[in-house]
Amino acid sequence: MSKQYDVVIVGAGPAGYVAAIRCAQLGLKVACVDKWIGADNQPTLGGTCLNVGCIPSKALLESSARYDDINHSFADHGITASGVKLDLAKMMARKDKVVSDLTQGIVGLFKANGVQWIQGSGKLLPSQQVQVTAHDGAESVLDATHVILAPGSSSVEIGAAPLKGDVIVDSTGALEFTEVPKRLGVIGAGVIGLELGSVWRRLGSEVILLEAQEHFLPVADEQISKDALRQFKRQGLDIRLGARVVSCEAGNKGVVVQYQDGKGEHTETVDKIIVAVGRRPNTNGLAADETGLLLDEWGFVHVDEQCRTNLPSVYAIGDAVRGPMLAHKGSEEGMMVAEVIAGQKAEMNYDTIPSVVYTHPEIAWAGITEQALKAAGTEYNVGTFPFAASGRARAAGDSIGMVKVIADANTDRVLGVHIIGAHCSELIAQAVIAMEMGASSEDLAMTVFAHPTLAESVHEAALAVDGRAIHIPNKKKY
Ligand code: FAD
Ligand code: NAD
Repeated sequence: MSKQYDVVIVGAGPAGYVAAIRCAQLGLKVACVDKWIGADNQPTLGGTCLNVGCIPSKALLESSARYDDINHSFADHGITASGVKLDLAKMMARKDKVVSDLTQGIVGLFKANGVQWIQGSGKLLPSQQVQVTAHDGAESVLDATHVILAPGSSSVEIGAAPLKGDVIVDSTGALEFTEVPKRLGVIGAGVIGLELGSVWRRLGSEVILLEAQEHFLPVADEQISKDALRQFKRQGLDIRLGARVVSCEAGNKGVVVQYQDGKGEHTETVDKIIVAVGRRPNTNGLAADETGLLLDEWGFVHVDEQCRTNLPSVYAIGDAVRGPMLAHKGSEEGMMVAEVIAGQKAEMNYDTIPSVVYTHPEIAWAGITEQALKAAGTEYNVGTFPFAASGRARAAGDSIGMVKVIADANTDRVLGVHIIGAHCSELIAQAVIAMEMGASSEDLAMTVFAHPTLAESVHEAALAVDGRAIHIPNKKKY
């Protein structure tokens, strides 16, 4: 008996919807099941990324950066602005419009590619069947040759800070505040804590970040995270490291937060709390027990390099499987799996996935950190170049930060590029391309960059690997 669909995908976030579109492009008959209900109470596509993640957070980061610039950096350019007012409701409405325009775009792409959108909750059954429970409770079963699981992730909750209305919130609640909190506590100084903490600081909140670890942003290169910590503190973000929250008590006068650090117990009273302590995979109840779908100890679906699960013709991608919880990582996995299903040779390079923190300055990196190379005993050379020596950064009046290029000491192959500074979310792409092509620092150094650009700083950092940077004195002589 022929199957109803070639591929059924559970989840229409950036992993699932990209997989669906790529499968359809390859001539496969595809259905994509998603249970998301948007802010307007209607089913919608795009998952966390478009609805409550990447896109709304970046919309607010952009808007709040403009407000901050008007208040703090326009004067340096000789521009005086008076009567500047914040219309938070309008800022939020703009963010919501950005989200709805983009989610509607996915609806259009599904139609254009012939992907069938099935609204409801999906559960994997044996033999590549998916049980769907529609929003009205109606049940049906889809029959497929292949299934791709892309259920994404949700915010981790902690007993010390149970969510409460709009007072103790997760990242989704933090995108919806209707007024600027006077004092805002953030539990977790990771990516979300820093980005959303920055939004509210720029809009006028006094922001205290309580971070359990002693080291700030340990996933980034240590030199960069030290610089970032200095810059964020200078901006007024009150980052307290080694701070373990014990309890949060919401009352009439705000939230009383108790935390412990190396110096003892402390109490702070804040108006609101954002809990941003990580995300966990949405795999609870994703598969019927009799399927035998293998999860790891943290609940991620166990997959191989090409995202095959332990079940034949069942794949899993995105936040629900190992690797960084990043939209672009899930999307690449979606494309790879679609091509594998279509019988093509497909693989992806997990070593060059870029990471970006969209604060100001931005932080971006790809490849290996200096501390990891030291720990592995790999011999390497480093070239750095500060934006303070970049003509373009100076002209923009935004010259905080630096570019760091790390190359293998024996082969000169670029092993890692780490940047802190304005627009480095864009600059990192050239490093990713270089690493993907197996470029050496010499290749980057021989490439002609336009002047004046921030990108020239990548060129100069590559030149500095060999002590040949032009616009700074070189520590190392050529
Ligand atoms: P999701 O986007 O979570 O989508 C999963 C989808 O599956 C959802 O639509 C859900 O409704 C559906 N689903 C789940 N279970 C079922 C089921 N049983 N049946 C039917 N449907 C189901 N990443 C970046 O790369 N850059 C950023 O700037 C960035 N910013 C972020 C900001 C915030 C505030 C947050 C919270 C996250 C951010 N992320 C960012 C992370 C990014 O959003 C995720 O990595 C990405 O959304 C994961 O994609 P996904 O498709 O795996 O899962
Ligand atoms: P995260 O892992 O980046 O940071 C969580 C932080 O909370 C860590 O520093 C951790 O030490 C700390 N923490 C954990 N428990 C704590 C506790 N009890 N008290 C105090 N601190 C505690 O996670 P996140 O910021 O929640 O983000 C979740 C995921 O979403 C990340 O994996 C990230 O990849 C993704 N994301 C990416 C972007 C981006 O790419 N720009 C933006 C937002 C989110």
